[in-house]
Amino acid sequence: MFFPDKGKKESAILEELNRLREKDILFSSGRILGSMCTEPIPIAEKVYMNFLETNLGDPEHFLGTWEIEKRLIQIIKDLLHAPKNAGGQIVSGGTEGNLVAILAAKHLTGKTEIVVPKHAHFSFNKVANMMNLKLKVVDTSNTHTLEVGKLKNVLSDKTAAVVAVAGSTELGAIDPIQEIAELCDEEQLFLHVDAAFGGFVIPFLKDLGYDLPDFDFVVRGVSTVSLDAHKMGCSAIPLGIVVARDKKWFEEMSIDAPYVSRRRQSSLLGTRSGGPVAAAYAVISHLGREGYQKIARRCMETTYYTEQRLREIGLTTVIEPVLNVLGVRVNNLNEVVRGLLEKGWHVNPVERLSCFRMVIMPHITKQIIDEFIPDLETVCKKVGEI
Ligand code: PLP
Repeated sequence: MFFPDKGKKESAILEELNRLREKDILFSSGRILGSMCTEPIPIAEKVYMNFLETNLGDPEHFLGTWEIEKRLIQIIKDLLHAPKNAGGQIVSGGTEGNLVAILAAKHLTGKTEIVVPKHAHFSFNKVANMMNLKLKVVDTSNTHTLEVGKLKNVLSDKTAAVVAVAGSTELGAIDPIQEIAELCDEEQLFLHVDAAFGGFVIPFLKDLGYDLPDFDFVVRGVSTVSLDAHKMGCSAIPLGIVVARDKKWFEEMSIDAPYVSRRRQSSLLGTRSGGPVAAAYAVISHLGREGYQKIARRCMETTYYTEQRLREIGLTTVIEPVLNVLGVRVNNLNEVVRGLLEKGWHVNPVERLSCFRMVIMPHITKQIIDEFIPDLETVCKKVGEI
């Protein structure tokens, strides 16, 4: 491909791009069973397009969009029971949310190590590399959650932050955040909760009476929480939010931004689109707590249904479902995943746990599971799994 000398007609470009787009798999096909993202609800698309030219890196030119950003942050602070003087930042997703939280911890403490559970998202490896921090990994218990006893053994006077996960990437497990926070509070340690996945589902399942632990600022000792609207928030990519118990922690890491309208910037990025911000605000306003409760309930019902159908064909999951994520145990992982792919099903292999991950997102229905299970059974029989 070469940089074009002359421009093409709009119709020719659209035709080319539409042809390429047809190669993509749509969430609405029901064939993507392992992703933590989903089809955004329709209002997201309408709103996103209207904010295409907005730049939140230069907010005084876009006062309306800036107001939307502030409202969105307020709403998320409310969802997370954040105190009045908490601060929030819009980020591109879970990776940047973790990065910003750990950067705040590094600024605050000046220390050089971070402690993460074994199941922490791989973004913490990037964070440690970028910030020249030592990553200390803590083993997990048989529920695949962080063991507080083991955590104690790796803490030191160099610890800049401890990380706990609310909705783990591989299994949807939730660390014992209350116990971890008590320890961090006692030892005066910064505690970041990565709720990239769980942040938009745990609060609504708790509303419905599900017995799930507290994970946010109601827990004394939690310093920062990050969550993604482009996962269970059902909004458009890219949109995450990170909230700090004290807004000073973000202010302290801000730098001079001499030639844009906001003179100090604490965000990692400079130019930032208002599109996903407005979309997330619209989706949350449209669904409300009630809408998210309905989605969360449906996802969990389908998760239990899937688990039962798996059992019927002789397969088990690594842990009982906590959220709408299943780790399906298989010995012949690569063969099973390849066999499913040949039949058009996309699941995510988790080699560490010898399982494949299914995330029962809103686009997965019981009917889709009914189509999937016979294919899974055929594949498993063929490779001698069952
Ligand atoms: N944290 C957790 C717990 C995740 O599950 C993920 C992604 O799956 C991330 C962080 C990274 O999110 P993103 O891919 O949006 O950067």
